[in-house]
Amino acid sequence: MAVLNRLIRSAVAARSPALTFSSLSSSIKDPSFPATTGRTAAAERNVQWVFLGCPGVGKGTYASRLSSLLGVPHIATGDLVREELNSSGPLSKQLAEIVNQGKLVSDEIIIKLLSKRLEEGGARGESGFILDGFPRTLRQAEILDGVTEIDLVINLKLREDVLLEKCLGRRICSQCGGNFNIANINIKGENGRPDLSMAPLLPPSHCASKLIARSDDTEPVVKERLRIYHELSQPVEDFYRKQGKLLEFELPGGIPESWPKLLHALNLDDHDDKQSAAA
Ligand SMILES: [Zn+2]
Repeated sequence: MAVLNRLIRSAVAARSPALTFSSLSSSIKDPSFPATTGRTAAAERNVQWVFLGCPGVGKGTYASRLSSLLGVPHIATGDLVREELNSSGPLSKQLAEIVNQGKLVSDEIIIKLLSKRLEEGGARGESGFILDGFPRTLRQAEILDGVTEIDLVINLKLREDVLLEKCLGRRICSQCGGNFNIANINIKGENGRPDLSMAPLLPPSHCASKLIARSDDTEPVVKERLRIYHELSQPVEDFYRKQGKLLEFELPGGIPESWPKLLHALNLDDHDDKQSAAA
């Protein structure tokens, strides 16, 4: 009898609104987009986070480390576009045309790819995600809000002069596509600012002779890219700030300095594991 009561109690608890889809009714604001992941209460599922940050700030690195730490997929929309282009998927032809014409991939297509990715992940039993490179614009943030729930938005920041130097130091291995950075940053702290150093991310010897810089990683182009980034991202930051979801994180240096502090800011000190030892 006690067992039966317990079963009934847990069955009731499982249906109680406090434990289930508290925001289900608001799930689909835009009916043209499916609510792919559903709106499971945050406590029942894994994290659904967004990483914002200038090109070159290293958000891919931190997003990828956090995703393996937390066991959630790291979804970079740039990868989704590339994967679709290389597939025989329904959008690949359309995408190829857009990319070949040098046009920007529309919000609708990006959202479609993202929805598809989340749906497939859900079918595989994935829970949660860390988004990288999306949303880029206020409109994308608004659309995303209609597709799934975002718990937290981490805005990675870095001093502009350092960011510029980092961008100019980027190198790609022309053979394996690996990303590296030859910038060696050592800035003495002044006016109360602490020292800031960031070690270069040097390639293994078999890549060293094959490094190339992106042709658009020149100072004027990088500066213009940063200006455009700020112009577009300001409203995105405001959007999430108003929702109380924006966490501003100023990188204090390279990965060894930043990673433990980032974990601390995210209340993940307990998760600090072999990754920081490997940093
Ligand atoms: Zn290589």
